[in-house]
Amino acid sequence: TLITNHMPTAELQALDAAHHMHPFTNGDELNAKGARVITRAKGVTLTDSDGNEILDAMAGLWCVNLGYGRDELAEAAARQMKELPYYNTFFQTTHVPVIALSERLAQLAPGDLNHVFYAGSGSEANDTNIRLVRTYWAQKGKPDKNIIISRKNAYHGSSVGSASLGGMQGMHAQGGLPIPDIHHINQPNWWAEGGDMTPEEFGLARAQELEEAILELGEDRVAAFIGEPVQGAGGVIVPPETYWPEIQRICDKYGILLIADEVICGFGRTGQWFGSQTYGIRPHIMTIAKGLSSGYAPIGGSIVCDEVAEVMNACEFAHGYTYSGHPVACAVALENLRILEEEGIVDRAGSETAPYLKQKWEGLVDHPLVGEAKIAGLMGSIALTPDKATRAQFAADAGTAGLICREECFANNLVMRHVGDRMVISPPLVITKPEIDTLIDRATTALDAAH
Ligand code: PLP
Repeated sequence: TLITNHMPTAELQALDAAHHMHPFTNGDELNAKGARVITRAKGVTLTDSDGNEILDAMAGLWCVNLGYGRDELAEAAARQMKELPYYNTFFQTTHVPVIALSERLAQLAPGDLNHVFYAGSGSEANDTNIRLVRTYWAQKGKPDKNIIISRKNAYHGSSVGSASLGGMQGMHAQGGLPIPDIHHINQPNWWAEGGDMTPEEFGLARAQELEEAILELGEDRVAAFIGEPVQGAGGVIVPPETYWPEIQRICDKYGILLIADEVICGFGRTGQWFGSQTYGIRPHIMTIAKGLSSGYAPIGGSIVCDEVAEVMNACEFAHGYTYSGHPVACAVALENLRILEEEGIVDRAGSETAPYLKQKWEGLVDHPLVGEAKIAGLMGSIALTPDKATRAQFAADAGTAGLICREECFANNLVMRHVGDRMVISPPLVITKPEIDTLIDRATTALDAAH
């Protein structure tokens, strides 16, 4: 059979159910109702196989920062495919797209983050980071300094290594994770866990758990701390203002490497190029992916500071992926960065779009179902609650408030995601003010239906 966009939806769904296994999905539940088939997209709008136009308030999976349908990226890919579709960077070879992208990233990244090790995704990049920081300390004569401290409810990817770094209990339960020498401290989620503390007190207390962990595990055992500037997949947990300065102080004091996982926060999401800039973090390593190519091609990487690169360059790091520095992905990423910069998209997102979205989004807190409404640039969350005063959670088996709300959004042609009882957004940076109004209207309709 020739399978095309023109086939009836039910036939496409049946074929999908027969042969395609979906990530993070209960296959039986999905197959019973059929997956929504997305056929085209432009700007912030998806079109499905029934012709519905859906506002994508998630930018795909937090990645289509530039918006859909930019021909320049398709043309950059086609040009590069014709000229040099593939060559590797393993055995003393390089190519122009990887040189150009690395130079560009070194300019964009803060501080002396000047060196890029490429991967095909954020998960792979975080796997690189695990081996990289451990190898770095071994090179410095401290092979026992290999524990990486991360946080509960963090998301760093799905591979065995990156899911071990992550703090999702459900993921650890499948497949025997985590790998050894990963330690998790608590997350700075004030709404759910802050108790009687003010957000500021709580942010400080949660950051100080890092110091407690270092003292407990031994300074000579801890290699690095990894964190997302704003936890994304965990529910857009915007940290209290006191949190990151204290984490930075502790990393400085004990000389442990600080890894900022910028896979979601990077490339304009928080209103500046990197979340580290928004939160005053000075990382030794940044994980990047997603917005690097606006999702148009799979690419990720680790941007590494001078000192770490110098130590690593003194040995052979026995690590790499067939697609490390893939020329087509690099060419697409370069074109994406050119447009984000030359059209002032990141600047406008920070100075105009984010303040407008913030005002509208925070207004949702007036809805009876919404406890807190948080925003960081162009990523936001609301916490659904049966009782605002006590910050109560819905019971786990009724953890359906978020689910109902997501289904209502979907029925209403809005893609929003739910994480337990938090609803999250992360729209393309190019979203306009009228599109933000539509987003808020549709979200409110969904909240009303879920109430
Ligand atoms: N790190 C963070 C912060 C992420 O949000 C994700 C994906 O959502 C990843 C890493 C993993 O990236 P990938 O899905 O490209 O492997």
